[in-house]
Amino acid sequence: MSDPLGFKKFNRKTIPKRKSTLRVSDWKEIYTKWTPKQSYEQSSRCMDCGIPFCNNGCPLGNLIPEFNDLVSNGNWEEAIIRLHSTNNFPEFTGRICPAPCESACTLSINNDPVTIEMIEKTISEIAWKNGWVKPEKPKVRSNKKIAIVGSGPAGLAAAQQLNRAGHNITVFERNEVVGGLLSIGIPEFKLEKKIVNRRIDQMKKEGVKFLVNTNVGIDIKHDELLKKFDAICLAGGATIPRDLPIEGRNLNGVHFAMDYLSKQNSILRNEKIKPNNHISAKDKNVVIIGGGDTGADCLGTAIRQNAVNIIQIEILPRPPIERNENNPWPHWPMIFKSSTAHEEGGERDYNILTKKFISDSDGNVKKLECIRVEWINDSKNNKVMKEIKGSNFSIMADLVLIAMGFTNPQHEGLLNDLKVNYDKRGNVKADNKMQSNIEGIFTCGDMHQGQSLVVHAIASGRKCARNIDIFLEGESNLPSVQEYIRPMK
Ligand SMILES: Cc1cc2nc3c(=O)[nH]c(=O)nc-3n(C[C@H](O)[C@H](O)[C@H](O)COP(=O)(O)OP(=O)(O)OC[C@H]3O[C@@H](n4cnc5c(N)ncnc54)[C@H](O)[C@@H]3O)c2cc1C
Repeated sequence: MSDPLGFKKFNRKTIPKRKSTLRVSDWKEIYTKWTPKQSYEQSSRCMDCGIPFCNNGCPLGNLIPEFNDLVSNGNWEEAIIRLHSTNNFPEFTGRICPAPCESACTLSINNDPVTIEMIEKTISEIAWKNGWVKPEKPKVRSNKKIAIVGSGPAGLAAAQQLNRAGHNITVFERNEVVGGLLSIGIPEFKLEKKIVNRRIDQMKKEGVKFLVNTNVGIDIKHDELLKKFDAICLAGGATIPRDLPIEGRNLNGVHFAMDYLSKQNSILRNEKIKPNNHISAKDKNVVIIGGGDTGADCLGTAIRQNAVNIIQIEILPRPPIERNENNPWPHWPMIFKSSTAHEEGGERDYNILTKKFISDSDGNVKKLECIRVEWINDSKNNKVMKEIKGSNFSIMADLVLIAMGFTNPQHEGLLNDLKVNYDKRGNVKADNKMQSNIEGIFTCGDMHQGQSLVVHAIASGRKCARNIDIFLEGESNLPSVQEYIRPMK
């Protein structure tokens, strides 16, 4: 490190955010930029601690102390090479990763961790600005054709790796845009779509072919796919949302979070949405069911759409402020977290079970009937939910957004037609080479591991690519990825 005592001299500082009162009037990114001095100070906080737990905490195995050292010495060009050696898309993870690397940072045992994620973002942005991120075309093309189904971060990572290995890649995407949840789900204020498109352009110049508006299983049948391609990579995501099948679920104004978020992203892409098809929070009392990140994305979106009142409710208790004894470093901390949207407005409440949705005379949702719950230990010491007698109450609502996660990938159509096996959770089952029960059909990302994170999707796509390359060629020069370890829940 350029300053071995940097961690003693400088405190953790994140990249400054735009004022919340200003940023809610647009959809632009919330974070601004560091000055070169701030980048130097923050990267100098890395202790180069000998056993870099951060490196293991990152599902991609990012070489974090190495790039921190390069940044603290001002060697940005070398830093992006180091970053790209393990991560195809640091400009995405540098913005929206919950940064398991920072939870594992050794400095965080008794101090604030190094701002690894923001150093990553800064390296990527400096690299793109200076033209260091160029298309990397393979020198030699193989005669092998690979179909990638789904263009989310898993499919994109697999496509880029396999294309660079020289294979002929076609990415099929049923949406009108490429990027999966990066483009259609995650709001613009967290990840501006020009950042996604910039990377897609690079991949197109490298020779990856994208076919949008192509629903594999419908527009192109599974047998045609099998005939035309030497290998298939199933990267279709976990698209089936968890529902809340209670009385009143079908009322007007009760929607899944993804239906809501994707419409706002369509509007920002200047796509025409029929007024009766748009879901807007403008002038409404909004209730978000689900206390996670998707719920927070709905909150930030509803604030920007000028909702009157927003509450995000969660059935589980509010997490503790600090790590519990059974949740030590370097594991992912199960603590109370706030997203940037929570700084902008809205309320949060916990231990709430929604019993039913009540309508007005026109079939529109008017309120939620709820009850408070507590979580007690049963005879086997498992936490079980118990309703608190007499704690019933109601919440006024004109718009209800169900943000309770996703259960599994869509089985009907392609997956059932291919006759792939599923695991207990309904995800596509694969061996440790990421191959399904059918030879030549591989899988990665949320379709295989269940709803997860962008960083896991990229790691899984990279690993899948290497295994497909070995399947086709008998060997591979693509880098291996450390074993995927599911974060503690
Ligand atoms: C609202 C929201 C916000 C999130 N925010 C974050 C965040 O801040 N940070 C983070 O790390 N993670 C976040 N996540 C999770 C993250 O986005 C996912 O884990 C990640 O995108 C999964 O990548 P994937 O490539 O496996 O699948 P997806 O991104 O889901 O992409 C799959 C793609 O496959 C396409 N597809 C499916 N079936 C077919 C077919 N038959 N033919 C053609 N195309 C098909 C789909 O249309 C989709 O575009 C968020 C998720 C949601 C829903």
